[in-house]
Amino acid sequence: MALLADNGPARMPARTAAYMKLGFDKALELLGKNKNGFFLMVEGSQIDDAGHFNDTSYNVQEVLDFDQQVGKALRFAAQNGETLVVVTADHETGGYSVVGGSSQTGKLVGRFTTTHHSAVVVPVFAYGTGSELFTGMYQNTEIYQRIKQAMAKYN
Ligand SMILES: [Zn+2]
Repeated sequence: MALLADNGPARMPARTAAYMKLGFDKALELLGKNKNGFFLMVEGSQIDDAGHFNDTSYNVQEVLDFDQQVGKALRFAAQNGETLVVVTADHETGGYSVVGGSSQTGKLVGRFTTTHHSAVVVPVFAYGTGSELFTGMYQNTEIYQRIKQAMAKYN
């Protein structure tokens, strides 16, 4: 376990993008040595904060930071051949909707509808060994069962 801040890390961009990268890289380095495999959960928790604050710029910066680690996890899984990567959220925050924009400028216009968690259905993306278990529509509590099934099936 690594506790890296007294009260949570600063938000992007004050917090450097290296913050999550260093933690992720160190976790892979240490856990990757385990011949029995490992389970690693990485949370981009401030994506939720940005939704509560209804701050689009903050949200985009946090998602981009998180996306860098997802990319690394996918490359690790592709190279390793026996890794499952699951990317999801426990809920949506802010009720964000794209209400306009232009493909010419590449800019989107979005609006928040709440400062709270919403009931919007969130996607579950799965890649790698066992990803076939993550199709369909289900309660988020089912993700635990499906990860457990994947571990039993491919272990
Ligand atoms: Zn929240």
